[in-house]
Amino acid sequence: MKEIVVVSGKGGTGKTSVAASLVVLAKRSVVADCDVDAADLHLVLEPRIKKTEDFTGGKSASIVPGRCSNCGKCYEICRFNAVIKDESKQPAYFIDHIACEGCGVCSCFCPEKAIDFKPSVNGRWFISDTRYGPMVHARLGIAQENSGKLVSLVRNQARMLAEKDNLSYIIVDGPPGIGCPVISSITGADAVLIVAEPTVSGAHDLERVAELAGHFKIPAFLCVNKYDLNPEVAENIEEKARAGGIAVIGRIRYDRTVTEAQIKGLPVVAFPDTAVAEDMRTVWENLEKKLNLNKQ
Ligand code: SF4
Ligand code: SF4
Repeated sequence: MKEIVVVSGKGGTGKTSVAASLVVLAKRSVVADCDVDAADLHLVLEPRIKKTEDFTGGKSASIVPGRCSNCGKCYEICRFNAVIKDESKQPAYFIDHIACEGCGVCSCFCPEKAIDFKPSVNGRWFISDTRYGPMVHARLGIAQENSGKLVSLVRNQARMLAEKDNLSYIIVDGPPGIGCPVISSITGADAVLIVAEPTVSGAHDLERVAELAGHFKIPAFLCVNKYDLNPEVAENIEEKARAGGIAVIGRIRYDRTVTEAQIKGLPVVAFPDTAVAEDMRTVWENLEKKLNLNKQ
């Protein structure tokens, strides 16, 4: 089984569109949507949810009114200004759950033991069926953090499904950027496919993601999306990639079919006779070859 994570230095590069097509082309695969802050793979894979679970990624504090003596200690010591004072209420202190970072300090120092510090529900995760195989996805609650933990959970569930059903690939739609959720989505993977756009910032993004993949010693591959919008910059990006030991496995052209596919809620390769679908197939064939070479 091989786990391939599709990433990009920032959002809007077409990463999800590429990931959705790889899911179709990989055939015996499970897909994991790890872009938990802005999940949108479901828009083109139309999952039918089979199982829903709460995600309890952290803890949060709440004041038990009957026990609070209004001493104000929690208000004084909360570094995150999450304890709010309102003298028109009884008790005069309450906790803003969006601002609460779940550090637990108030609970430790409350003289009346009036602060409950319990696991909080930060989101939900799902196991679904799609036309192309099983899918694990998640939704982080509004203003919730711990997306790195949720990403790890989604990947673990996808791995378990792949093992149970003896599937050959796990295709991960990773979060954009290079932050904690991206690190959680690539550590231990077999390959990282970087989707870059042909812009100056695209070149910079490539460097950042490539550094990250290099740090974790994960083989990285590149495809430039919409390369024909700026072939010169696309070439520069590819040169940089090669110089950094990243194999260039294809280019994807700009094509209105991509937008049409999104509107219809389908992956691009569901329009097999188009040039952009051919580009996607080339990317997958090259990637598959490289992965099998790496195995030998
Ligand atoms: S520290 Fe405890 S008793 Fe004091 S105001 Fe806060 S919750 Fe109430
Ligand atoms: S748990 Fe930490 S962040 Fe939350 S209210 Fe208490 S002291 Fe503030």
